[in-house]
Order: sequence, then C-alpha cells, then structure tokens
Amino acid sequence: MGLPIFYSCDRCPAYCCSYPRIPVKPADVRRLAKHFGLSTEAAARKFTKAGSEEGEIILRQAPDPVYGTACRFLGRETRRCTIYEARPGICREFPGCARCGYYDFLAFERRAQGDPEHVPETWHGKKP
Ligand code: SF4
Ligand code: SF4
Repeated sequence: MGLPIFYSCDRCPAYCCSYPRIPVKPADVRRLAKHFGLSTEAAARKFTKAGSEEGEIILRQAPDPVYGTACRFLGRETRRCTIYEARPGICREFPGCARCGYYDFLAFERRAQGDPEHVPETWHGKKP
C-alpha cells in the first residue's frame, strides 16, 4: 500500500501549471520534439524560452482563464496536461512529497470560506 497523499489533482484547476518558471532540460526538449514530430531546434523555439536565471530554459506560457497565464500545454477546459506522455521531467516529479503547497492553499481557502468545493470563480470546479 502506498503512503497517503494530502492533495487531489482531480479537485484542483492545475495551479502548479500556472507557475511562470517551469524549467526544462535538453532531454525534455528532445521528448517534446519527438512527440510533435519536430526538430529539436524547432521544438525549442516553439515551446521554450530563456528563463530569468543564467542558462535557464523554461516552457512558454499562454493566456489562461483561471490564472491569467499558464503553461501553453495545459488544457484550458479540462485543466489537464495535453502532452501527459511527453511532459517534462519536472512535471513528473512535482510535488515530490505527500503534500502540495498549492493544494494546501486551495484547501485553506475552502476552509476559510466554509465551502469545501470552493475553486477560483473562473473554474467550474470538477475535472471531466
Ligand atoms: S497544484 Fe498540486 S494538486 Fe493541483 S494539479 Fe498541481 S500537483 Fe495536483
Ligand atoms: S507540461 Fe503539462 S504538466 Fe507540465 S506544466 Fe505544462 S501542462 Fe502542466
């Protein structure tokens, strides 16, 4: 039996995917390129850009109805990753422990508002 986890991605509008700096490694770009049938260079140009740290490469974002901006690969309606099989390593590892800080915040909001189903107003609240 696995260890208990204290978050539910099914009840979250993908807060983590709204983080503006999602760093990728060369292997992640190669996986994206293969997934989309592009050259590595074309995939890098299309899907990534330079981050604020020296040498950092991050995923590009796009407008998002819930958070303003989010990863370009997030399904805006489904709130699920549209490239799940090809997602970067960091997305596979996150949150890396039994708790998710983003979900803790969402749970705090739900407690504070006395509404166990509370979600940001712009989200309908249940993933399909
Ligand atoms: S923010 Fe946390 S709970 Fe929400 S989708 Fe990401 S990992 Fe799951
Ligand atoms: S690649 Fe997928 S899992 Fe990773 S941030 Fe983008 S939408 Fe989220």
